[in-house]
Amino acid sequence: MSTAPFTYDANPGRVVFGIGSLARVGEESARLGGRRVLVITDAEAKAIADAVVEQLGDRVALVWDEVAQHVPIELAERARAAATAAAIDSIVCIGGGSSTGLAKAIALTHGVPVLAVPTTYAGSEMTPIYGLTGPSGGDTSRKATGKDPIVQPRIVIYDPELTVGLPAAVTGPSAFNALAHCVEALYAAGANPVITLLALDGIAAIGRSITTCVREPANVDARSDVLYGAYLAGVSLGATGTALHHKCCHVLGGTFHLVHGEVNAVILPHAVAYNAPAVPELMVKVGTALGAPAGVSAARALFDLAASIGAPSSLKALSMPHEGLDDAAARTVADTTVNPRPVNVASVRAMLEDAYEGRRPA
Ligand code: NAD
Repeated sequence: MSTAPFTYDANPGRVVFGIGSLARVGEESARLGGRRVLVITDAEAKAIADAVVEQLGDRVALVWDEVAQHVPIELAERARAAATAAAIDSIVCIGGGSSTGLAKAIALTHGVPVLAVPTTYAGSEMTPIYGLTGPSGGDTSRKATGKDPIVQPRIVIYDPELTVGLPAAVTGPSAFNALAHCVEALYAAGANPVITLLALDGIAAIGRSITTCVREPANVDARSDVLYGAYLAGVSLGATGTALHHKCCHVLGGTFHLVHGEVNAVILPHAVAYNAPAVPELMVKVGTALGAPAGVSAARALFDLAASIGAPSSLKALSMPHEGLDDAAARTVADTTVNPRPVNVASVRAMLEDAYEGRRPA
């Protein structure tokens, strides 16, 4: 046996994980040295934000409660102007990937440190990746992503109690977003054996507990397990990158204004089926981590899991226009630079047709 050579770019960051850890936001944010804190919150997480504002007391310079998926540049620019006017020196963001994404957009231009309190399973809090959507390039529907260590939250507080209020319609799809990060980290640029361990454990944690989270939303043990899996997924994404699945989800979400988690739930089984011939051993590991029954492929196990937790399983169900598939296939191919199986417009178009119809992978 020998270990193949690899390169692993580990991202820094402090993580506080545990039930009740929201109570530590005040002391943890003091580590950032901020005296004028911008609190960014999703309106749905307002009760959590109120508790944070109380802890921060007179260190709060501004509370911003408007967020949106894929961070429209127009929203980012308004928030940046408000941050400048309030002379903020640090950010505490509360909510899902939309809140974290807005915090990152401001950190990018203002160079201020971020403390993130995630309330979904998106995982953005563990990555140096940011995204902004139109219209700066002239195309209002395109999402542009970049990487900069300045945007990665310095501290992340994971409190499973904050996720018990997440509706089933968000819980399942958001967990699929995390599963997708784990799966793609196995073969994206930067994949390495350390991240493979984390990613497979993330798949296992989510696979064994997501059904309970959907059926018993207040089961905090199951919520802890899935949030832990989502954390591992975020680490895995942050240290590697994305491939066909995420490129496709960003094209579909950015162009047709689809909900990110829901698109992930629909596309992941098909992206796994697409790539399985190129990385069969890895996909067997995915199936094993998911606890797939003997003879059931990873792609089918993912499709069946989505169906069993009531997550959407077709683009048709997301009201994606069928006539958009050709353009989506062409854009996905243009954006996909790394993938284990080569992509071309015809093969990706066929994958999208399966996803549109919600066909169970062969
Ligand atoms: P989101 O933040 O929009 O949250 C999804 C839904 O959950 C929203 O309707 C929100 O209101 C609701 N919600 C959030 N917290 C809640 C709570 N405590 N109780 C009840 N409802 C709550 O979306 P998301 O799925 O978390 O993140 C998706 C976004 O994040 C996309 O824009 C995606 O591109 C981005 N993302 C970025 C990265 C990265 O590394 N940059 C990684 C993953 C996702």
